[in-house]
Amino acid sequence: MYYPFSWVKSLFRIAVFLAAFTLIGLLIDRMLLAYALGLTALLIINYFQLYKLNRWLWHSRKMSPPTVNGLWEHIYEGIYYLQRRNRNKRKELGALVKRFREGSEALPDAAVVVDEDARIVWCNRLARIEMGLRWPQDAGRRLDNLIRHPEFIDYFHKGRFDHPIEVPSPSNPQKTFEYRVMPYGEEHLLLIARDVTRVSQLEEMRKDFVANVSHELRTPLTVITGYLELLPRDEQDSFATKAMDEMFSQTARMQNLIEDLLILSRIEASAERIFEKQVDMYAMLQQIEAEAKTLNKDKNHKIRFEMDPELKVFGVETELRSACSNLIFNAIHYTPAPGKIVVKWEEDERGARFSVKDNGDGIEERHLARLTERFYRVDKARSRKTGGSGLGLSIVKHVLNHHNSHLEIESKLNKGSVFSFHLNQQLIAERSSA
Ligand code: ADP
Repeated sequence: MYYPFSWVKSLFRIAVFLAAFTLIGLLIDRMLLAYALGLTALLIINYFQLYKLNRWLWHSRKMSPPTVNGLWEHIYEGIYYLQRRNRNKRKELGALVKRFREGSEALPDAAVVVDEDARIVWCNRLARIEMGLRWPQDAGRRLDNLIRHPEFIDYFHKGRFDHPIEVPSPSNPQKTFEYRVMPYGEEHLLLIARDVTRVSQLEEMRKDFVANVSHELRTPLTVITGYLELLPRDEQDSFATKAMDEMFSQTARMQNLIEDLLILSRIEASAERIFEKQVDMYAMLQQIEAEAKTLNKDKNHKIRFEMDPELKVFGVETELRSACSNLIFNAIHYTPAPGKIVVKWEEDERGARFSVKDNGDGIEERHLARLTERFYRVDKARSRKTGGSGLGLSIVKHVLNHHNSHLEIESKLNKGSVFSFHLNQQLIAERSSA
């Protein structure tokens, strides 16, 4: 307890002490000697108390202070009070840490805390079981020495943790883990690993199923189309002619759909490295220009290609061809004749930019976010007429994803649209000196 007027009491004690020595001085008629003795006694008493305090602080096991009087009693009590307060705080903190540990042990995911140098500070029980971490032997070891998968190391060192990553488990390659990293405290990172083996197996099965079904459907359709082409036509029979035409266009649509499904499956499964081969986009776009001209025969749009012939990039040519042709053919399909279409391939401050601008139908804002979903169409009847499979923009999205890019869409209803994408500076190949 703090006594605000304890100093008055202490002053009083000293005054009484000095008065006693004054009295002794008067009695023996040696004032100076009496005062010197008094002050020496005072000094000795205080030194003795300091000695006791030192012993209590450093050598005594007892928490409670020894019994003393006067000013020293308050000093002891003050220290004792601070000690008790610290002990309570430590207890509270200890309970908090215990609760946190219990909570994180109960997590259904493996959790690892690493410091700014990627050294492991702490991990929960599931991390030890699932990721094969040994505790406490692995404390202080670098996380990238334990999870050595190149994709994980790349993800971890890039430091862009806005999306999770899926890689095989370090202890069991049959299992797939989804790793998610979050900044934790000021300098720590929290890694959460979740077993997604079943989900990724199902995803693989789905991809395989779509690829196999598409492949299997291809042969019977080719046979049907072949016979349809060979069958003799009776121009007199209007019903038979109409039926034949309809069968022709429907099989063509199905073939289109299957080709697109196969392209999508191939891109999804593609493990081709984008940094390995150069793509001469100028030459490739010239070929697409020739195809676009054929497609444009009935429509008569004005199509202009503005291209930088020297701008080459690293990537997968077949994929980029699919993406660019889909965007160009869409512009031709969804622009009422005679429209204006401008295709550009140029370099700007964000990298290499491909864009297709049209003055066609345009798209309402509410559709934009869902446009790259499979089979999503703004106007179903209209798209069917154009013969589209509903997979075009989905293919574009996957191709761009593979090239670390994304589709940008600006559109105004009845005014037109701009579909564009950027390929990163690092994907631009060195220009050949003229
Ligand atoms: P589809 O095979 O139906 O064309 P896509 O995935 O290529 O499928 O396109 C999805 C939808 O986006 C289309 O159905 C169409 O409504 C819309 N769309 C695509 N490109 C354009 C464009 N240039 N102008 C207007 N609408 C477009």
